[in-house]
Amino acid sequence: MGHEAVDALVDVRWERVLGHLRVEVGEAAYQSWLKPMVLRETDDGRISISVPTRFMRDWVAAHYLDRLTILWQEEDAEVQSVHIFVQPDHGVSASRRGGPARNDEKTGAPTSRPLPSRSETARGNLSAPLDSRNTFDKFVVGKPNEFAHAAARRVAEASTVPFNPLFLYGGVGLGKTHLMHAIVWHIRNVDPARTVIYMSAEKFMYRFIRALREQNTVDFKDQFRSIDVLMIDDVQFIGGKESTQEEFFHTFNALVDQGRQIVISSDKSPSDLEGVGERLKSRLNCGLVADIHATTYELRLGILHSKAEQATVQVPAKVMEFLAHKITSNVRELEGALNRVVAHAQLVGRAISLEATQEVLHDLLRANDRRVTIEEIQKSVAAHFNIRTSDMHSARRARSVARPRQVAMYLSKQLTTRSLPEIGRKFGGRDHTTVMHAVRKVEELRESDNSFAEDVELLRRMLEA
Ligand code: ADP
Ligand code: MG
Repeated sequence: MGHEAVDALVDVRWERVLGHLRVEVGEAAYQSWLKPMVLRETDDGRISISVPTRFMRDWVAAHYLDRLTILWQEEDAEVQSVHIFVQPDHGVSASRRGGPARNDEKTGAPTSRPLPSRSETARGNLSAPLDSRNTFDKFVVGKPNEFAHAAARRVAEASTVPFNPLFLYGGVGLGKTHLMHAIVWHIRNVDPARTVIYMSAEKFMYRFIRALREQNTVDFKDQFRSIDVLMIDDVQFIGGKESTQEEFFHTFNALVDQGRQIVISSDKSPSDLEGVGERLKSRLNCGLVADIHATTYELRLGILHSKAEQATVQVPAKVMEFLAHKITSNVRELEGALNRVVAHAQLVGRAISLEATQEVLHDLLRANDRRVTIEEIQKSVAAHFNIRTSDMHSARRARSVARPRQVAMYLSKQLTTRSLPEIGRKFGGRDHTTVMHAVRKVEELRESDNSFAEDVELLRRMLEA
């Protein structure tokens, strides 16, 4: 499909979403709140919509975001989130705009951008839109992400380059993009004169290829080489395309040599990047590599609390604990699950309950369950620690087998929806309190022993893959 065809399809979908909403909310509300929305971008499952004022953004987000998301998902199952942001010159050409737009000083939250400067124009057509919720103050810090968070803050706050590049590395949906956006928001708020460019690696390639085609590579290079901070998200996608890699490498070196900051994210470590040349790999490894580990139960619970608070909804503690226990894969899924539960409660007009949660998330919970069985976990863990699978069921209590057994119990709890007694039964008929103890023990060890934490993490990733 050509670009025009894609655009047309998106327009049709947008029309349909609006049409549905119009019927649901009535003409008056539609005219005041929904009609002014402008669809800006559909990218990576994220729909970006702009509105002219901050008030409007808050209102639309509070009242219509869930419905917008659900309606979009009905149009396109790939859609994961809808985000509303403020664009002061929304629908109006820049020259007609009145006074300068300002950032919101009180909250520091990004609401509008300063008047375009030269760097702004460069960034305007290069940098991708940012999610206004992805700020530092909305990022919940816990053991698995504290290092990456601290590193991101350092980069955002430093006036000189603390480490180059900062390489954020972690699994899908664990907060890489959030941290990257947070860096950009921070810099734009504190020091708008600095040029920060944030874009996906895919877009970088696309721009570069287009520049090649239009024989415009000199301009392309100049644009990149005159910036203060370059942030490239999801760099794992850059692998394989040699010419782009080469260009990236040169741009990269030029910026580093000029003392400009580079921030990169990837779901693989620099050494594991496929199809990336050794030179680029070693250059990527030169700075600080900050790993975001899989979430812990505590972090998931913290995130749920924070999200519920932001959405100003009351979610019973039992429901949050249930979600934090069951949705372990990543934060995006966790957030999605909470949104579904909240949207459902609002639609049917009932309070959120554990029963309703289990019902609404039935498919998701089943899917999580189907992913891996206790037997598979026992086999992989036994192999990893070099013990016999039968030791998972045996009564032997030597540390060399007891510890792996505890890890397997812990992972069974994390990765399946089996109850504690069910898990106990599969481990040679042990009591549920034994399983509970194992889960606590492993959680404790994960906090205190880094290499143990890495082992567990490795196993988890392998089992989930
Ligand atoms: P990634 O880029 O690593 O795939 P994202 O940054 O897009 O993941 O995160 C997925 C979702 O989870 C986003 O909505 C993000 O705001 C949220 N999220 C991830 N980690 C955290 C956290 N520590 N605190 C709050 N929200 C988080
Ligand atoms: Mg991302």
